[in-house]
Amino acid sequence: MNSNRRLFRINIGFLINQPVGTLREIPIEAKSISLEKEFPVEDLRGVISLARTHNGIRSINTVHALAEAECGRCLESFKQTLDCEFEENFTFENRPLSEEELIIPEDGNIDFEPLIREYLELEMPYNPVCRPDCKGLCAVCGQNLNEQDCGHPHPGFNAAGGKWDRKPKELSKN
Ligand SMILES: [Zn+2]
Ligand SMILES: [Zn+2]
Repeated sequence: MNSNRRLFRINIGFLINQPVGTLREIPIEAKSISLEKEFPVEDLRGVISLARTHNGIRSINTVHALAEAECGRCLESFKQTLDCEFEENFTFENRPLSEEELIIPEDGNIDFEPLIREYLELEMPYNPVCRPDCKGLCAVCGQNLNEQDCGHPHPGFNAAGGKWDRKPKELSKN
């Protein structure tokens, strides 16, 4: 895993002597990566835009990734799309001017991985769903209703299509 470790580390030294307002866009990409603290994602891509400010650097970042998730309705695993946008201010000062600012390390290297991880994780839904119209599992027999209609009544689904609106089978007769 250590080979992954510095993928999003950027040396901002090239911006230090540039005039305020100088902008540089740095594309980032990783087909498959385990972000720190065991957060594996695929198809990570985005842009880190760095702008010289009067006392440091502002970064404006957009990141897309796919994360493994389990559908809260049908329990199948699927790839959850995560898209985030965030801004950070970094300062050369020895102390941050505000709590929102991070200090640029003396060697000029900023590792964006902790930030990328944090913001991607914030995009993870509390209750992920594989697709908006996922029908979930039958409460009686556990059948995945996306695959097959087992014939049991599914309260709450009537409004969606009407075809589920039927009388319950008498299970107790078996
Ligand atoms: Zn589902
Ligand atoms: Zn059923």
